[in-house]
Order: sequence, then structure tokens, then C-alpha cells
Amino acid sequence: MNRLRGKVAIVTGGNAGIGEAIAKAFAREGASVVITGRRQAELDRVVGDIVQGQGMVVAVAGSVTDELHVREVVRRTVQQFGRLDILVNNAGIGDFGKRLHETDDATWTHILDVNLNGVFRMTRASLPQMLKQGAGVIVNISSIASLIGLPTLPAYAASKGALDSLTRALAVDYAKDGIRCNVVSPGLIDTPMAAPLMNNPEQLAPILARYPIQRAGKPEEVASLVLYLASDEAAWVTGGTFPVDGGITINGKGPS
Ligand code: NDP
Repeated sequence: MNRLRGKVAIVTGGNAGIGEAIAKAFAREGASVVITGRRQAELDRVVGDIVQGQGMVVAVAGSVTDELHVREVVRRTVQQFGRLDILVNNAGIGDFGKRLHETDDATWTHILDVNLNGVFRMTRASLPQMLKQGAGVIVNISSIASLIGLPTLPAYAASKGALDSLTRALAVDYAKDGIRCNVVSPGLIDTPMAAPLMNNPEQLAPILARYPIQRAGKPEEVASLVLYLASDEAAWVTGGTFPVDGGITINGKGPS
């Protein structure tokens, strides 16, 4: 109940899927939470849920591709709650089903702009406040796509691989300032992003067969790990890449 008592957190893409679970877990543990995302109705829904559970939450609608929105998120956070302790860069999109030679410029650029440049923008906007406070935590939501080769998602894999490297670079640059940065790398999680696959049993079965724990993960199972990394319990943990993936990345069996 009190693992994040007194902390203030931003969760991008906090209005659905994994981000929603993270925002709710943070609020349950006593954090004041600012959630972002483009869809106002989904922001309102999550705000309603958190308020009903006596949590503190504010929503700021917009896209991580928009520098003005990004600055506004940080400004509102500090204005409303007086500080910023935790940034979870969770907002992300995928474009699945095409190989590289079938990927057009617009798709490539858009995926990189949300999944990588969005993290750059949010982190750049957040760091001055964390530096002022002399402390902070950044958790970047990557993917197993940056750890193992997966078919037909080249832009997505490239964006997440770069995100892992960026996180390590940040961990080194900002450790002396009391700021920790880690990566969480989920396997297949049952969220709206994964719905097309989850709703296609023929496609899903061979994929799940590769998972030692033979099911998809739940958003709450990712949130538990993010909660640990965001809390003071992880005070000596920085620069790490943490799979939460039912064992897929250590599976020696290969495709079944
Ligand atoms: P969902 O599609 O369920 O949710 C994505 C979230 O990101 C939504 O809140 C969405 O809100 C937000 N979002 C998307 N684009 C933008 C944008 N331009 N600006 C701001 N917010 C945006 O996906 P998941 O919850 O599954 O994914 C969350 C993260 O986890 C992503 O980074 C994803 O890559 C990663 N991940 C997911 C896996 C899975 O199997 N589900 C596996 C591995 C990693 P809105 O649409 O309102 O903007």
C-alpha cells in the first residue's frame, strides 16, 4: 500500500493495457500519478477507476510525438503535485506482419517517432526537474523484440533495441545525479495491442508453444516488475534490462 508513498509519477500511455496497469499499481501504492495518451475517453475511464480507489491522478491528453504536449505533461505534473520522481516511458505502437522490404518510409518513421523519439522527448523534458531534486527513476518499456529475433516487425524491433541502448547510456550519465534508468522487456501480454493475435487461436498456439510458461502475460504482471524498479527497494539497480516474458528469451528449444 505504501511502496511509493509521497512519490509523483508520469506514465505515458497510461490509459490502456500495460500503462493502465502500471498507473493503477502506482496509485494503489500511494503515488500521485499523471497519465497520458491520445484518447480522452480512455483517460477519463482510468482516472475514474483510480479516483474510485482513493488514488491521486491527473490526465493530460496528447501524443508523445508532440513536443508541446510533452512539455505540458511535465509542467502540469510539477504544478499539480510539486515534484516528479518517476517517469515510465510506456507509450508505444507496433506494426506487425511485414518484412523490411515491405515497410514504407511513413511506417518506419512513425514507429521510431513514437517508440524512440517519444522517449527522448519525455525524458529530456523530465530530467531538469529530477536533476533539481537530486533524484529520479526512469523505467522504459521495451520488448523481447530487442532481445531475440522475431519475424515481421523490423521497425518495432529497431525502436526497442535503440531504447535499450539509450537506457544504458542514461544510466551511466545520470547515476551521479541520483537518477536510475532501467528497461523492462515484456513478452506477449494480453492487451489491446496484442488483441489481433490473442483473438486468432491458429496464430497464437505455435507462439505460446515457445513459451516455457505456456500462456500470455497479464498487464499486472508487468506492472509488478515496474513497481519494484520504480520503488526505493531497487535503490542499487540501474542500467538493467529485465525480461518479464514467461521464459521465452531463455528458451533453448527454439520454434516448436
Ligand atoms: P496498447 O496498444 O494496449 O496501449 C498503448 C498505449 O500507448 C495506449 O495507452 C495508447 O494510448 C498509448 N499511445 C500510443 N501511441 C501514443 C502516442 N503517440 N502518444 C501517447 N500515447 C500513445 O499497448 P500495450 O499496453 O500492449 O503496450 C504498452 C507498451 O508495452 C508499448 O511500449 C509496447 O511496445 C510494449 N510491449 C507490449 C507487448 C504486448 O504483447 N502487449 C509486448 C512487449 C512490449 P492512445 O491510443 O490513447 O494514445
